[in-house]
Amino acid sequence: MAFKPAKRGRRSEHAQQKNRNYKQAGGHAGKNQRKRIMRNGIDISKFINKAEPIKEAAPYIPTHTFADFNLHELLQKNIIAKNYVNPSPIQDNAIPAALEGRDVVGIANTGTGKTAAFLIPIINKILENPSETALIITPTRELAIQIDKEFASFTKGISLFSAVCVGGAPMFQQIKNIRKGCHVVIGTPGRLIDLAERGEIDFSGVSNVVLDEADKMLDMGFIDDIARMLEVMPEDKQSLFFSATFPKKIENLVQSFMHDPEIITVKTRDTSKNIDQDVVYTTDFPTKIDGLHTILSEGEAKKVIIFAGMKTTVHDLALELERRGHRAGSIHGDKRHRERQQILEAFKKNDISILVATDVAARGLDIPEVTHVINYEIPNSYDTYVHRIGRTGRADKKGFAITFV
Ligand code: AMP
Repeated sequence: MAFKPAKRGRRSEHAQQKNRNYKQAGGHAGKNQRKRIMRNGIDISKFINKAEPIKEAAPYIPTHTFADFNLHELLQKNIIAKNYVNPSPIQDNAIPAALEGRDVVGIANTGTGKTAAFLIPIINKILENPSETALIITPTRELAIQIDKEFASFTKGISLFSAVCVGGAPMFQQIKNIRKGCHVVIGTPGRLIDLAERGEIDFSGVSNVVLDEADKMLDMGFIDDIARMLEVMPEDKQSLFFSATFPKKIENLVQSFMHDPEIITVKTRDTSKNIDQDVVYTTDFPTKIDGLHTILSEGEAKKVIIFAGMKTTVHDLALELERRGHRAGSIHGDKRHRERQQILEAFKKNDISILVATDVAARGLDIPEVTHVINYEIPNSYDTYVHRIGRTGRADKKGFAITFV
């Protein structure tokens, strides 16, 4: 194993004593007792915070029902089959605007029901006019596949076809799916451009475009690729952009490529408030992996995502945890696409209880019931930290975030 024992003796005897036995202390040292200590340029006291008591939010009263939208009968049937009774706030506002043919900007994050907010109007439009096409651009392959699954459930029993075009998966199969004829292409920017350069996709024929998690695509450096794709698309296409935040560069895209969009902002509870955040000192255990093993063995951490920066660390860590009797799997950029999907499915279905991941591999993941996020390695920015810990404490459930410092 590549894990080196942590160096001892760097902190004061007092501090070591305070944290000596993580288990006995029943947790971690308090924020007020600690001096300002920096890691990766982040004050570690920012990793410590008590979750606020969860207040029952007033239920949202939608102004529409799904029946009000006058959707195609088969689509309506599938919505009922999915047990969707009331539209979520983003759906309540975005679906009628999109059905009218308007461009829509939805400021909404994962978990708000944004996928159905763009899929429902697009599917309805294609059912009314099968010559319509849609291109859905997402930052990650995982998100593309998640959207495709939703698409399949909304189009059950309907002859509408989709093709997922993402990197890390064989291109020939994707080309085959496109050539067979599909109404909707869901893909990541790099692969989509690659396919266009090979003449397999023609962006000038796209009548509807969705940008999902536009701000993530900006973070990942895809913004110029996206602008290149949008430039080729017809002027009169319908555009639906979704983003958790609305930075200047996204605003510029909206101004350059959209026509009088309906802008909808959905306020969601700041996930960090649902999350108990604390730190663990590496030096309190013989080795860092021992510390992790102790936390995982305590029984509270039932469904855990562990973050590390390097692909090799992620890989080695999952193997070592398995060796120590934990049910763990890993996802990172070097894993084959199919393998990543299998591991995600296993985690979702609780066949494994620990997912070790790099930041990029974990982007956009919406996995319910994650009890703990553990930062085995400190993220490179506070922003990444907030993103990581947002994988727990979802849907107004309490979550725990533990950071090794
Ligand atoms: P999303 O934000 O699109 O990732 O959706 C989050 C979760 O909410 C998914 O599991 C959806 O299937 C579910 N969902 C979306 N809209 C509704 C709705 N109107 N009623 C019930 N569940 C929904």
